Amino acid sequence: MTLSYLSLGSNLGDRLGNLKSAVAKLREKVAVTSLSSVWETAPIDCPAGSSPFLDMVVSCEHEMNERELLAFTQSIEKELGRPNEHEKNSPRTCDIDILTFNDECVNEPELTIPHPRMKERLFVLAPLRELQKDAFQFGKEYASLLDAQEVRLYAPAFILQQA
Ligand code: AMP
Repeated sequence: MTLSYLSLGSNLGDRLGNLKSAVAKLREKVAVTSLSSVWETAPIDCPAGSSPFLDMVVSCEHEMNERELLAFTQSIEKELGRPNEHEKNSPRTCDIDILTFNDECVNEPELTIPHPRMKERLFVLAPLRELQKDAFQFGKEYASLLDAQEVRLYAPAFILQQA
């Protein structure tokens, strides 16, 4: 059994609906064990005119290997309308990043775990901190991002509990 944390984001269309659909689709193959609140964040490193994101983190337990989990999350992104070819950081109905895979490290061209940019993103660390509580290991990075990036609570976790 593997415990993974996944980060979900949407800044196109029905953002909350997209997150709900993504959680529902995740549940078809993994046991979602916790859901963070939904946070709203200004777009970072995105094309001019990009809309704000809704972001959240979920933890899940599953039996997939790393590549199978990536293929599964990418299939959900596609089902929710994300084109195969897309400009870097372009608006997306749903983006799913694999943050962790137990305590394992993966360094492959198509997959890096822990996710290489998670420590630089308050929209990842804020919801991850909610879920990990005392086990959260990025307190220093989180504190240093508080002045630099803006995130605000958008909706409580129970909004997605029924997804
Ligand atoms: P993005 O457009 O930001 O969603 O990036 C997607 C690309 O990042 C895909 O081609 C993945 O193969 C790659 N990638 C590398 N590491 C990860 C990860 N930990 N989680 C999700 N995608 C990853």
